[in-house]
Amino acid sequence: MKVLVPVKRVLDYNLKVRVKPDGSGVDLSNLKMSINPFCEIAVEEAVRMKEGGGGHAAGAAKEVVAVSIGPEQAQETLRNALAIGADRGILVKADGDVEPLAVAKILKGVADAEKPDLIILGKQAIDDDASATGQMLAALLGWPQATFASKVVLGDGKATVTREVDGGLQTIDIELPAIVTTDLRLNEPRYASLPNIMKAKKKPIDVKAPADYGVDTTPRLKVIKTAEPAKRQGGAKVKSAAELVGKLKEAGVL
Ligand code: AMP
Repeated sequence: MKVLVPVKRVLDYNLKVRVKPDGSGVDLSNLKMSINPFCEIAVEEAVRMKEGGGGHAAGAAKEVVAVSIGPEQAQETLRNALAIGADRGILVKADGDVEPLAVAKILKGVADAEKPDLIILGKQAIDDDASATGQMLAALLGWPQATFASKVVLGDGKATVTREVDGGLQTIDIELPAIVTTDLRLNEPRYASLPNIMKAKKKPIDVKAPADYGVDTTPRLKVIKTAEPAKRQGGAKVKSAAELVGKLKEAGVL
């Protein structure tokens, strides 16, 4: 079984987002970029399918291929995936914002060429919070999808996936080939060891362009304005329940 894992390069989740003064977007200059945390979970799950662990038998997956669509520096994101244990990478070089629909179209091209049995994506990229790529890719390929997975059990030609849904968990069977998107509780990704980081440097990365898959990445959406959240007003301490009720009435809550 071959597993394809799309990984996105995003602003490191520990950093505070700064909006550009003209409101045209987020300022990324000189900031640390990292693999999207949900993509890291996706790589970890795919590697466990290969090596065993997390309920998967060793050898359930034979090959794990990571793919990233982004600038030259997205190579680092791929190296990160390779250090966790992916076997090879594909960089589809594209500058500027590539919207989820264009990403999904490129991934369809990659899937047509690579013929994976399973594609595991993050449930969302923490920069655009679109949570759209996996769903669009499933539609383009005509494959079943199991989104927001907190558990994946591989079976014969199928996967049993537990999904995090509002108010609980839902377990579904999907036939392979299929799309899975990862939720936070699926696994805890390992820290890549130094020897594995060194090994990752030698693993192959194929470089492609969107045009190789016949995809035009010109944006279709126009960002009108990007703004920081309103500053939180300072709180106040009340001396009694009666005063609290008075304040809540003042605020129109009661
Ligand atoms: P989104 O729909 O943008 O929230 O992203 C959901 C998931 O789609 C991510 O966690 C990745 O697995 C995949 N994805 C989105 N954009 C890219 C990209 N530029 N390169 C590779 N994978 C991506």
